[in-house]
Amino acid sequence: MRLKPVVLILLASQAAVAAESSPTPETTPSPAQALHCERLFDARSGKMLGEHTIVVREGKIASVLPGRAKLADGTQSIVLTGRTCMPGWTDLHVHLGQQSNPQSYSEGFRLDPTDYAFRSVGYAEKTLMAGFTSVRDLGGGVSPHLRDAVNQGLVKGPRIFAAGKSIATTGGHADPTNGFNSELEHLLGPPGPTEGVINSIDDARQAVRQRYKDGSDVIKITATGGVLSYAKSADAPQFTVEEVRAIVETADDYGYKVAAHAHGAEGMKRAVLGGVTSIEHGTEMTDEVMSLMKQKGTWYVPTIYAGRFVADKARIDGYFPAIVRPKAIRIGSQIQQTAGRAYKNGVKLAFGTDMGVGPHGDNAREFLYMVEAGIPASYALQAATVHAATVLGVDDQGVIETGKRADIIAMPGDPVAEIDNVMKVDFVMKDGVVHRQPAIE
Ligand SMILES: [Zn+2]
Repeated sequence: MRLKPVVLILLASQAAVAAESSPTPETTPSPAQALHCERLFDARSGKMLGEHTIVVREGKIASVLPGRAKLADGTQSIVLTGRTCMPGWTDLHVHLGQQSNPQSYSEGFRLDPTDYAFRSVGYAEKTLMAGFTSVRDLGGGVSPHLRDAVNQGLVKGPRIFAAGKSIATTGGHADPTNGFNSELEHLLGPPGPTEGVINSIDDARQAVRQRYKDGSDVIKITATGGVLSYAKSADAPQFTVEEVRAIVETADDYGYKVAAHAHGAEGMKRAVLGGVTSIEHGTEMTDEVMSLMKQKGTWYVPTIYAGRFVADKARIDGYFPAIVRPKAIRIGSQIQQTAGRAYKNGVKLAFGTDMGVGPHGDNAREFLYMVEAGIPASYALQAATVHAATVLGVDDQGVIETGKRADIIAMPGDPVAEIDNVMKVDFVMKDGVVHRQPAIE
């Protein structure tokens, strides 16, 4: 996908060696694997089907057969007794470079980027093992590099669609110098488009182009204030429509989708009018914004998990700075209700947790929160599979169909009948490679 030239050379020379040592590689059939699943969730229709056999070859789904299919000789069988198979999940909103804790704010001054990079290795593996074969990392300098390390097989983790550094305006939610004292601010100078801070249409274009240079896959903007930034307002609008439009138009040049963090209605409205692909959090979404989103086909990624997490932690003295605490209580406790209302209103929902706020690896709990909000379990599962692929703009994942990537997970029981089963994932395959498998019963 995004291999550096040196890697391409390595692969080419390895291929040459392989060709020399095996005289007729093209006639040797590659070993196939067959997964026997007691149930299969059809993400496209949202229906739970009965027993199926999924044949996997060279990282792709070769066929999907009803019942316990008879297989060609040499096929390796994996029997998933009592389990439901479904496409690997995608969490559309994570930050793999961080995880909130009472020291998060001072860590920003003490830790090196390398420290965050090492932490992200463990977070990536936990995320994959929980059944998330893809994530969209919406902000953090670590993510493009982590993506490359995963793709090169150096780190176990999900497929990463990386935003790199988020884009904000001065003092906005993703201004990296928020909360700095004046001397430090003076020393560093005002952050600009390279650091993700823009204040004009020209800056907006430059910031997107810089992300292209940095190797991003998607653009993230912070359309309103946020909960965890060292700033007073969580919901004031922080971009003009023209600035959002300039970002979206420039992103289009590079084939990038734009994700907009937003809590307040005005900033959300400007982001939707500016043409973003998804609204993240969407806390104070009004009926007017919902209609506009339906009209423009904008997706909603609620991140209920993060809302509940910050509202809980705000009750603990000293967990958050004083300026953050009231925002966490007020905003955090509203998201779940907004998600339920948006679903009833016909807004399209896709799955995201904002993990990195909460603990990586617990991502599937969002499904429980979605169901609690009144969203049907089958829709919540579609939100993390087929809907998520649409939001990412890819058509090779999110469903179990011939020719798609073999990203397949399984768990005991039927999660549509009993949503708690999503917490019991014990089989994880990504691109045809098994990363987790239940003990033979
Ligand atoms: Zn986030």
